[in-house]
Amino acid sequence: MVTNKQDIRALTKEQIRDFFVKQGDKAFRGNQVYEWLWQKSAHSFDAMTNVSKETRQMLENNFVINHIKVDTMQRSNDGTVKNAIRLHDGLIVESVLIPTPTRTTACVSSQVGCSLDCKFCATAQLKRMRNLNPDEIYDQVVAIDKESRLYYNRPLTNIVFMGMGEPLMNYNNVIKAINKITSVDGLGMSAKRITLSTSGIPKMIKKMADDDVKFNLAVSLHSAIDEVRTAIMPFNKTFPLKDLRESLEYWYAKTKRKISYEYVIWKGINDTQKDIEAFVQFCKYVPCKVNIIEYNPIDDGVFQQANNEALENYIQTLEKNKIVVNVRRSRGKDIDAACGQLANKGNKL
Ligand code: SAH
Repeated sequence: MVTNKQDIRALTKEQIRDFFVKQGDKAFRGNQVYEWLWQKSAHSFDAMTNVSKETRQMLENNFVINHIKVDTMQRSNDGTVKNAIRLHDGLIVESVLIPTPTRTTACVSSQVGCSLDCKFCATAQLKRMRNLNPDEIYDQVVAIDKESRLYYNRPLTNIVFMGMGEPLMNYNNVIKAINKITSVDGLGMSAKRITLSTSGIPKMIKKMADDDVKFNLAVSLHSAIDEVRTAIMPFNKTFPLKDLRESLEYWYAKTKRKISYEYVIWKGINDTQKDIEAFVQFCKYVPCKVNIIEYNPIDDGVFQQANNEALENYIQTLEKNKIVVNVRRSRGKDIDAACGQLANKGNKL
């Protein structure tokens, strides 16, 4: 239900403390409420059992808690869990839990739909409907942590911003969410276990470096040749590889942290020797590692995974050049939970 009461989780701890002082109560009450809202993820004011009934009522009269709701949950044969998350205004995003023997990773969304127009990605076809608020991003992590404990008896270990949306087009909210996730007032997770994946927006990559962020950076490169990259990721026309390179050099100079490049190899698009050489050259600009991702078809018939020979050729050439390369097998494909497949299929908006 949409009301015009304010979402209390849009307030900082200080603001909640001030609110209580203005009500003639103690600032300390604000700490208690804040703890319920974040560390304990309370879904209602009534759940705040160490707060008096009158105070709970007063909060109810002034605020709402806009919690996300896991609408449907699907489990894949490989253990991947995909959640369709309903937001307070009825829109839906998806998030995924990916278990491996050594870790459990949450793949979270940052926007409803996406601002960009990558031709191979199902989310791009939805267009951007709105940015997620910090609490909507945080709540996805809490929901997946719960599922991880429930199904795998262990807490979440890693977070990747590789769900729906372009996180750098919703920078402020993503940063606020990460601050909360890493804060002792929130989930207390280490920033080292968080990776933000971007299609590469140079100005924002530089801003992140200036902001001295502590999480990891992954860039969805897919081609190191401008014409090829522009054909499959049209925004590359506005942010060409030269600018991307410069921003990555800036990032590395400031953070001294390696960058990961995400790369899919498609038949007839980026599978020639020329493509490989351009990529290897690009990898030499800043210390990096490469994740080759299996293509997950989005049913348009245009893009097809390249053959094994092309894949082997990439791997060998990269390794010969001392570049660390991982090949990521797709997870959760049977339930459309793999990279680029998040498109609210089967969910009514
Ligand atoms: N907008 C961000 C994060 C979301 S996409 C970004 O571009 O990085 C997460 C990853 O999935 C990106 O590397 C993206 O290029 C990749 N991807 C998108 N569609 C895909 C598909 N159909 N198959 C495999 N990977 C895909």
